[in-house]
This record gives sequence, C-alpha cells and structure tokens, in this order.
Amino acid sequence: MYEEIKQAIRDVPDFPKPGILFKDITTALKDKRCFRLIIDALYDVLKNEPIDKIAAIESRGYLIGAPLAYKLGCGLVVLRKPGKLPAATLKEYYDLEYGSAALEVHQDAIAPDERVLIIDDLLATGGTAEAACKLVLRLKGRIAATAFLIELSDLNGSKKLRPYGKTISLLQY
Ligand code: AMP
Repeated sequence: MYEEIKQAIRDVPDFPKPGILFKDITTALKDKRCFRLIIDALYDVLKNEPIDKIAAIESRGYLIGAPLAYKLGCGLVVLRKPGKLPAATLKEYYDLEYGSAALEVHQDAIAPDERVLIIDDLLATGGTAEAACKLVLRLKGRIAATAFLIELSDLNGSKKLRPYGKTISLLQY
C-alpha cells in the first residue's frame, strides 16, 4: 500500500531551485484511490493519539490536515504565511531547505493545554515544523505529535523535532 502511494508521488528535479528534488504530491492526490489510501493510512497511525486539534501548515499541509481532522473528529487550525490571517496573530520565522519564511497563527486558535497534532506534507530539515511547534507552545498548547506524509530522512528533520515530542511519517526517502 505504501509502495502504491510512493509510486504515485512525482519527483521533479531542480524545483524550485537547482539541486532540489521536489516531491510533488499532486499526482497522488488526483488519484481517488491513492488520496483515500493516504488519508486512511495516516488515520490508522494516528487514531489512538489523544488529539484535540490539528494544526496544518500552509499550503500542502491543508490537503492532508483537513480531511484527517474530519476523519479524526478534531478541530482544524491553519498555520499561514504572513499577512493572510485577518485577526490578531503570533508569528515565527524559520529557515527552509530553499530560503527563509515565517508562519502565523491566530492568537485564539488554540486554548491552553489543548493537544495539537501538527501536520505537513513533507519533513525536510524540520525548520517549518519547528516554527509550527513554537507557535503551538507560545499559545500554551501541548504537542500531541508532528506528522508528515513524506520524510526526507537524510536531512535529519526528526532529530530537530525531537524536543517537541513524537514525529510520525508515512513514507521515508
Ligand atoms: P523543512 O522546513 O526544511 O522541513 O521543509 C519542509 C517544507 O518545505 C514543507 O512545507 C514542504 O512542503 C516543503 N519542502 C521542502 N523540501 C521539499 C521537497 N524536496 N519537496 C517538496 N516539498 C518540500
């Protein structure tokens, strides 16, 4: 099953910069069977975790985080790129595999002690997910786990995320 998902993910060399092998999940999501396999497989791995909310990272994290939140029966919080959220926000800056960026969250998105599962499509260096963890902790939430469809193991992102709790990935490369 995981092999079927792997085969549906397209490798795009030198995108968005030379030297980056981009893992394009659109080819997996457009296939109705594969999309369902992805969400069901993540659900199976996560269904016994105590989770109040999923915090999904813009933008590909939403494609996985939203259906998963629906299936797990938990709330959905969006972590967005700067300037997109309309109400009062907190911001965290971070370094990317290709550049630097920031994430924002609404200040009232997470209540103290809520157990939050952080979701993104892919874990590379872990900088993005670490910024997400910091936002959740600044709001006094608890991190249930960080979870990804894809982990690029050589980049040691799971090591960077170790201080924040358990890291789960479906496919490792
Ligand atoms: P990082 O902060 O280094 O863990 O990078 C993870 C974020 O960048 C995720 O939101 C990914 O969608 C994106 N990303 C980084 N590297 C890749 C890659 N090789 N293919 C696809 N997306 C990537």
